[in-house]
Amino acid sequence: MSQLDIDSIIKALGTVISRGQKSPLALHEPFFHGNEWAYVKDCLDSTWVSYVGQYVDKFEIMLAEFTGVQKAVAVVNGTAALHMALKLADVTPGDEVLVPALTFVATANAVAHCGAIPHFADSDERTLGLDPLKLKDYLKAVSQVRSSGCINKFSGRRISTVIPVHIFGHPVDLDSLAEVCEEYKIVMVEDAAEALGSYYRGRHTGNHGKLSILSFNGNKTITTGGGGAILTNDAALAALAKHLTSTAKIPHKWEFRHDHIGFNYRLPNLNAALGCAQMEQLPGFLEQKRKLSESYQKAFAKIEGIRFFTEPSFAKSNYWLNVILLDAASSERRDELLEKTNEHGFKTRPAWDLLNTLPMFRGCPAMDLSCAENLVKRIINIPSSSFLGNNHE
Ligand SMILES: *Cc1c(COP(=O)(O)O)cnc(C)c1O
Repeated sequence: MSQLDIDSIIKALGTVISRGQKSPLALHEPFFHGNEWAYVKDCLDSTWVSYVGQYVDKFEIMLAEFTGVQKAVAVVNGTAALHMALKLADVTPGDEVLVPALTFVATANAVAHCGAIPHFADSDERTLGLDPLKLKDYLKAVSQVRSSGCINKFSGRRISTVIPVHIFGHPVDLDSLAEVCEEYKIVMVEDAAEALGSYYRGRHTGNHGKLSILSFNGNKTITTGGGGAILTNDAALAALAKHLTSTAKIPHKWEFRHDHIGFNYRLPNLNAALGCAQMEQLPGFLEQKRKLSESYQKAFAKIEGIRFFTEPSFAKSNYWLNVILLDAASSERRDELLEKTNEHGFKTRPAWDLLNTLPMFRGCPAMDLSCAENLVKRIINIPSSSFLGNNHE
């Protein structure tokens, strides 16, 4: 019999987050108590609601300053940001791109939008993200490094790129992955969609790849309604990103000339106005989210059958979505736990289905995925909105 103590888990959730909060509690809700109304009103009053306006420029500068990445280009959503970043990293049709099997579907969709093929990689129990050491052994067995890059010996295709995803905000072991990339001539593009406010060895995530991306979807740490950003320390790539995502129009007073097949991926000024107000509050959100995770950690410490997942030793995480990990022996009772916690007004959710099991990605190449297969049965996300940390001194 499994030792999973569901009653104690519900009680612990109650002690951490029940204090006068509304029910049912969502996993992650936005919080608009800063300058959101003022900035949005300013957009409406000025009629600069669309693709031109001061808030887009301001938002991009705030993102670059906060993350320490030289340039940020704001776009309509995280998926579009990743599509663009992969194109700028020279992902071409027929390439294979290494993607963790355990991630949100958008990571692999963006690869497919480039005409490339997701190649699924296993996870690291320490981070929940891609495992660089296992990847290294795998590449040694299946690939060959040539002057043209890393070639998959079995498919004959180029493995051009790897996308580490900082799952639920927990940073991947980026130094180890960078070594693998160097050895195998693979470009790194970071999917930091969930990791605004997360640091790897003291440096903000998104600084380690050739390019990286953020998302400002409604459930992320900050939101612009919908939105995303491309980050890069390469000023020329950033300029090209701006150009291509804004229809590739050559700036001119009246002429309408375009020099590439561009994309209309620009973030409207109205959304950027929300973003500026949210960025002002980000340090506070992160502090509250940290308090919340510390309270969870204490509350779950002595409960049998589970472990509260904490940041890897080399990282400071934003704890975007808090995770409890079921012990292997308790994983068969996962659905019972989901059922009962939701019944009690606590929104809980399992991890995404592994992407290699989805119909559109079923035929894609994959390495041994035993760690991801094990984790996916054991991960439970619990309510994580920043304002839930308010009551914890
Ligand atoms: C949210 C998210 C995205 C995509 O962002 P959208 O803004 O929803 O398009 C990409 N990757 C990961 C890992 C995400 O969590």
